[in-house]
Amino acid sequence: MSLKRLWELQELDLAIGALAERLAQSPFHREAEEAADNLVRVREALELAEQTFKEQHKRLRRGELDLETITAEYGGLHRRLYSGETKNVKELEQMEVKLRSVKQKQLTLEEKLLGLMESMEQQEELIGELTSQKDDADAEMHKRQQLLDEELARLGKELEKLEEQHRLLSAQIEPGRLQLYRDISERYQGRGVARVIDDICQGCRVSISSAQRGFLYNPQTLVYCENCGRLLVRFAEEKSSPGLVE
Ligand SMILES: [Zn+2]
Repeated sequence: MSLKRLWELQELDLAIGALAERLAQSPFHREAEEAADNLVRVREALELAEQTFKEQHKRLRRGELDLETITAEYGGLHRRLYSGETKNVKELEQMEVKLRSVKQKQLTLEEKLLGLMESMEQQEELIGELTSQKDDADAEMHKRQQLLDEELARLGKELEKLEEQHRLLSAQIEPGRLQLYRDISERYQGRGVARVIDDICQGCRVSISSAQRGFLYNPQTLVYCENCGRLLVRFAEEKSSPGLVE
């Protein structure tokens, strides 16, 4: 078995690691999250606006009942004052004062209810606006989620392909060599195998000694870089792209 397979395995492992990183770090995650957060915010604002409107409506109902009572009271007083049944001047004066005061109460309440109705109109506009914002946010959230799902499916498929290549390649490597690869890979953060190109170790960019150079022509010999300690692999450039199984 040529040591080149170990280097190819390392290329595959690096590609798998990079892809897994892309899966985890995809900006689609953040965008989907932001869209979901925005939907929650708009929903909360809408609920609050609807709650406020409900309370305003209750206040209006209560105010209208009060106004009915006051209007009836005013009507009664008015009738009594002008019916002629009371002749006492003092009493008539008191009734007039009372009538004015009830009239004032009625006007004040009417004013208040008008103001309340205006606020309710504005509140209804706000609810309409927030409802349309919520619909937009909802659509946006679904779009972002779909984009994320598509991205994850796409990267997931790529990852599966690489893992399948990894399985096939690993099956072609003897267990002892596989173990050696894993050990050295762990020691050098996934880059324990280094190619030698133009007599330079690609792991540390230092020229290899002439003694080592000789050993490298024997594919069965394990040669380690005297500078960085990586397992050296030497092979000529071929038509196949690096990292792919022929
Ligand atoms: Zn080296």
